[in-house]
Amino acid sequence: MRDHPTTHLDARAPLVLDTRDLPRTPGAMRAVERVVPAPENLGLELIRVPEGADIALTVRLESVSEGVLVSARAQAPLEGECGRCLRDITDSLDVQFQQLYAYEHSTTDETTDDDEVGRMQGDLIDLEPELRDAVVLALPLHPRCRPDCPGLCPDCGVPWDELPADHSHTQVDPRWAALGQLNKKS
Ligand SMILES: [Zn+2]
Ligand SMILES: [Zn+2]
Repeated sequence: MRDHPTTHLDARAPLVLDTRDLPRTPGAMRAVERVVPAPENLGLELIRVPEGADIALTVRLESVSEGVLVSARAQAPLEGECGRCLRDITDSLDVQFQQLYAYEHSTTDETTDDDEVGRMQGDLIDLEPELRDAVVLALPLHPRCRPDCPGLCPDCGVPWDELPADHSHTQVDPRWAALGQLNKKS
């Protein structure tokens, strides 16, 4: 029996890793591959992993002296809006991250801050906070449909990409317009 009876994590939650099968012997390793549904609000205001979309996780768990070192790769679809022309963007994300999770009551657990090192709850590891950090860091702050997106016409709000090359709102003086008509006739 371990002496930490209260575990708040649910071993069956998609982003919780159960290390019961991993011997607590430094160097022991285990690989986990799973597809999990994206949690809500995974991303930024303009671009995100759609809630419920498939995230392909490839995880390597390695026992170290005071915990478990997790190396993970996550691949997921992205959807968002171009920050210039507001049209929809679809893209994909491929991020890798690594985090040490300290055993409860290990020296590392007692002597480090939570933001330096993750914490195990019994045999369980919650991957979600580190996944969120890795995803958010990998996303562009100013997503674009393409790098040189010209944005919107400031007068009519239509994307320049959808307007003819000579699109303009320049008001021609009516007298000149009449002259133009005359010239055409002659
Ligand atoms: Zn755009
Ligand atoms: Zn316009």
